[in-house]
Amino acid sequence: MQVFKFGGASVKDAESVKNVATILKRHENIQKVIVISAMGKTTNALEDVVNLYIKNDEKHLQYLHEIREYHQMVCDDLFGTNNPIQHKIFAIFDRIEHFCSSNNSKSYSFIYDQIIGVGELASTTIVSAYLNLNGIQNIWLDAREMIRTDYAYTDAKILWKETENLVQDKIDFSSTHTFITQGFIGGTPEGFTTTLGREGSDFSAAVFSFCLNADKMVIWKDVEGVMNADPKQFEEAVLIPKISFEEAIEMTYYGAKVIHPKTIRPLQNKSIPLEVRSFIASDKGGTLIDAFEERIEYPPIIVRKANQVLMHFSAKDFSFIAENHMQEIFGAFATSRLRMNMMQNGAINFVAAVDNREEKINETVALLEANFSIKLTSDLDLLTIRHYNEAILNSELSNKTRWLTQQSQETIQVLYRDTY
Ligand code: ADP
Ligand code: ASP
Ligand code: MG
Repeated sequence: MQVFKFGGASVKDAESVKNVATILKRHENIQKVIVISAMGKTTNALEDVVNLYIKNDEKHLQYLHEIREYHQMVCDDLFGTNNPIQHKIFAIFDRIEHFCSSNNSKSYSFIYDQIIGVGELASTTIVSAYLNLNGIQNIWLDAREMIRTDYAYTDAKILWKETENLVQDKIDFSSTHTFITQGFIGGTPEGFTTTLGREGSDFSAAVFSFCLNADKMVIWKDVEGVMNADPKQFEEAVLIPKISFEEAIEMTYYGAKVIHPKTIRPLQNKSIPLEVRSFIASDKGGTLIDAFEERIEYPPIIVRKANQVLMHFSAKDFSFIAENHMQEIFGAFATSRLRMNMMQNGAINFVAAVDNREEKINETVALLEANFSIKLTSDLDLLTIRHYNEAILNSELSNKTRWLTQQSQETIQVLYRDTY
């Protein structure tokens, strides 16, 4: 059996849903689980709803209605006006409105997770119905009843054993060839919705692949496959046809956005190959990520992370930065769940580059300012190049002022600012 994953761009409107059906017709005889994200930019729009709701702003209802209308429009295009699917969609959105009017919790993360998953519930309902009406018989499953997680709302951790049992229980190919379910969401034992972190649908697909011992996982994207840089930022980006699990882990860890970083490990653990293919040119080969025996020659792989903040710490008691200071600093970063993208320590200074997430930075500063003098430098970018050479470094860093460099044999990271 195989697990397919379709992201937001692949189901953004009626035409796209029809394209998904065309792709699936070509894989009709394979048993599969299809994991689908929210349509287009729905999750971003739902984040706006959450932010308004948290501020007690009644406009959240208007925003939610706009998202519902967008889904209704896709339904009209696919099924004709006044179709029964539309009523299902209304019911899904009504439950969210009901949650908003009856909720007493003040927890942002809890509220976020109860609202945001509606995008995936709606998209899978529409796609499942369209496929059933067009000769691809399938069963819709609620991922919240299979992906069991802890209570870390917005960034929930998978409870692997429970999830494995639930997934194997619910997915029985004697009843159908094709199951459709949601990416990104999971559930607590009490039935509250949790989410696995933004862009988490790739990871959901890997969880299903792991639990079902899939023969292969395929993610369908709006790019040819995995390239040596984001083709939206880098015109000369080239396709990498074969990538080892290790390389895929490294490049996604450093921020290559084409695959969610948590995706590869569960696949590697069970040697499940991952194909990254284009839903636009769906007959092309794409990229195969697998446990290759042979050594692969990679081109320089370039990852850019914009909007970085460099945090500088020095001890207020004028002492050197020692292990006890590091322990305190790391503890604070762990508590506020702020990730260090790059770090370096010297005699009296420790520095760490982080994404510009104001709330998390403020929380970290609040935890450490009693013992440390802290300075922030913003408007920096972080360039990471795997398999670098001098020529690529010079061309990528011309007209840039380097702030911090760190390199190993395979990887160089440079924090820089554009020189105006
Ligand atoms: P999905 O719809 O599945 O969520 P994403 O938008 O998350 O898809 O991922 C696809 C996007 O990743 C591409 O449109 C591309 O701009 C971006 N991207 C970033 N780095 C790379 C890379 N190295 N190779 C291919 N695409 C990349
Ligand atoms: N819809 C979610 C998001 O936009 C999950 C995903 O697309 O992977 O983050
Ligand atoms: Mg994505």
